[in-house]
Amino acid sequence: MSAFTIEARDARSRARVGTLHTAHGTVRTPAFVPLASTATVKGLLPEEVAALGYEMVLGNTFHLLLRPGEELIERMGGLHRFMGWGGAIVTDSGGFQLFSMGHGTVAEEIKGRNRRAGRDRAGTGAIVAIEEEGVRFRAYTDGRERFLSPEGSMQVQAALGSDLVLALDECTPLHVDRSYTARSTERTHRWLERCVRWQRRHGREGRLFYGIVQGGVYEDLRRESAQFVADSGCEGVAIGGSLGAEKAQMYEVVEFAMRELEGERAIMPRHLLGIGEVDDLIRGVELGIDTFDCAIPTRLGRHGTALIGDPARRWRLDLTKRAFREERAPISERCPCPACANGLSRAYLSHLARARELTGMRLLSAHNLAFTATVVRRLREAIRTGSLPAEAAALRAGWEE
Ligand SMILES: [Zn+2]
Repeated sequence: MSAFTIEARDARSRARVGTLHTAHGTVRTPAFVPLASTATVKGLLPEEVAALGYEMVLGNTFHLLLRPGEELIERMGGLHRFMGWGGAIVTDSGGFQLFSMGHGTVAEEIKGRNRRAGRDRAGTGAIVAIEEEGVRFRAYTDGRERFLSPEGSMQVQAALGSDLVLALDECTPLHVDRSYTARSTERTHRWLERCVRWQRRHGREGRLFYGIVQGGVYEDLRRESAQFVADSGCEGVAIGGSLGAEKAQMYEVVEFAMRELEGERAIMPRHLLGIGEVDDLIRGVELGIDTFDCAIPTRLGRHGTALIGDPARRWRLDLTKRAFREERAPISERCPCPACANGLSRAYLSHLARARELTGMRLLSAHNLAFTATVVRRLREAIRTGSLPAEAAALRAGWEE
């Protein structure tokens, strides 16, 4: 059986509904994938994540190889058993974290334009050298110099027992020029070929393998990269790297890649790395993206912000503000999360958030994941029933909580 089956398509866009078949169950797509970078969806128990409707989480090669180490996790029975998660696990290759350290201004870009804020960043490590063979870097955990090659990343992901592995890529930031982006994208392709060879030799039946499309904001580079990845022998395509300075450009850059993933290539599953705001999910689905991962829902939750159906507020309710101190209403009357379902007031959640209480972080993380799951479920159902244009418009207009 093919690893990905498409069950319905939208007539007016590239959107489709499908099922990803993994060694740890199926994932209904379009799907959002919560981050479990360090072997935990921060603050939540695996059964809580599953109860919110999630079938796959994303572990991070870079963080887990440094701490606690993939060999330890392997000895403990693999990442699923280690963290008590029975569903599917996708692992990021570590490329984004490595290169966030290397290209110093990525972090500033992220802060300034909040565009790539969704992808989990490393702490205060440092890159030593980008070589053809791989990347030399200083670990943020103990300061020691380490080396990660494309094969090494595949090996770590295999040791973790990942169901869906990603090829190591160089994640080029926005500020580098076209010539650097072109050279870097070519190296990413050579690394992908090495990952494909590794996968052929050591891959396990049922372990899915995606290459990552790079190419910065340049149409020709993105299109070439999408072609290269799709024809490389991997099962799926992930889109990564710098996607532009604002949302309109990001959608355009994704569109460049998607144009090359039509026809016979359309049967491949597609993942968009590090993107997950409401409007981005809607547009991403229309562009033909099947899965998304993003730090935003859980990160905002830990910092006292709830996601709500209000585009005018950028979908955010900052509960640390004093304005909510005496608000009796829950965040949302319709949300199935524990905070809303139990009728906990905005006043209470605001108190917890301002006091930095663990319970508040947990409740808001769960609410934000419930919110995101609801948006994606509505999109999925709308594709099935042929009503995506109306549903997308309704979502974009926002709704009363
Ligand atoms: Zn809620």
